[in-house]
Amino acid sequence: MATRLYFDNNATTAAAPEVLAAMWPFHAEHYGNPSSLHSLGDESARALSTARAALARLLGAGSPARLVFTSGATEANATALASALATCGTRRRILTTAVEHPAVLEPLAHARERGFEVVVIGVDGEGRVDRERWRSELDERTALASVMAANNETGVIHGVDELVADARRVGALTHVDAVQACGKLPLDCERLGADFVAVSAHKLHGPKGVGALYIRRGVELAPFLRGGPQEDERRGGTENVPAIVGFGRAAMLAREWLAGEGPTRLAALRDRLEATLLGALSEVSIHGRGAPRLANTTNLRVEGVSGEALVMLASDEGLCASTGAACSASRHRPSHVLLAMGLSPAQASSSVRLSLSRYTTEAEVDAAAEVLVRAAQRLRAVANPLPTAP
Ligand code: PLP
Repeated sequence: MATRLYFDNNATTAAAPEVLAAMWPFHAEHYGNPSSLHSLGDESARALSTARAALARLLGAGSPARLVFTSGATEANATALASALATCGTRRRILTTAVEHPAVLEPLAHARERGFEVVVIGVDGEGRVDRERWRSELDERTALASVMAANNETGVIHGVDELVADARRVGALTHVDAVQACGKLPLDCERLGADFVAVSAHKLHGPKGVGALYIRRGVELAPFLRGGPQEDERRGGTENVPAIVGFGRAAMLAREWLAGEGPTRLAALRDRLEATLLGALSEVSIHGRGAPRLANTTNLRVEGVSGEALVMLASDEGLCASTGAACSASRHRPSHVLLAMGLSPAQASSSVRLSLSRYTTEAEVDAAAEVLVRAAQRLRAVANPLPTAP
């Protein structure tokens, strides 16, 4: 069995050892319900507070009270969007972008069916949101503007500060899906001024099945899950204490990592990977390379080579990469993000995403590049066999 080379960290990350160690006692010993009045309940309630405070520091949330823990970012996004549309009064227009995650696009498609007008703003060839169009479509009819901080497929970073400020100027509610930015870029929700910000633990070496929604002070929240007083009456259901504790620990680790040399080292590794591939293979294009990008992500196409075939062949040699977002990959559709950037369906289908993590080593990068080059050369040889002698 080949050694595993994990380059799919935008799909999910391994939980850090410190995260797992922090979580276990909350399964085994401190298993109390945080709402219980006895000592075990108290321990769990205190652990929730500690985790909430750690995440609030990572997000620049101002106060831990601004955060509601959820089952993940899909729920955090859905909660924000449903709440905004339930509380927006007579405004009926929603602005979003063509490159959002399905966790945003699908609830908004549902809102369209319920009579909201959904305006989708395009991106340029590098994946940057068309700010002029964004501004021109905002007016006093706009109920909600929703934009992601960084794209999960290309890593392209959107100027959310400006986009949110534009939307606030017309009095729209604002929502930012910060799932891919959280733990990879410094975030400051208070300064950003968005009404809602969604994040997820499993993208930053925390556990799966837990996320959080930041809600700006004074913003009304229509709870999505009713059924108990938890989370200050904002989300019913017994809290997933071990996972929340793990999220808090992951937030602390991410904050330490962001403050050090980690981001620079990671960008250098990603650049090394790209340079090796560009040097070894002809006709390689890197998507979004001209825009600011997350340090860990590269999305590229090897002309004439199927992305799916490349990922599968590379997988036989232990490399875990992806053709795009994990969810669209399993639907076998060309990426809506790459199509929005102007790629043809055939070009989008020749694309692969490699996403590194703060634990990725130089040796792994070199090994991954070797596997990819070998696999691409084999696929090209099959597609263009040498002419046989007459
Ligand atoms: N938003 C973005 C940008 C994502 O990348 C993801 C996960 O792939 C989600 C939302 C959904 O997050 P979760 O898996 O926590 O529901």
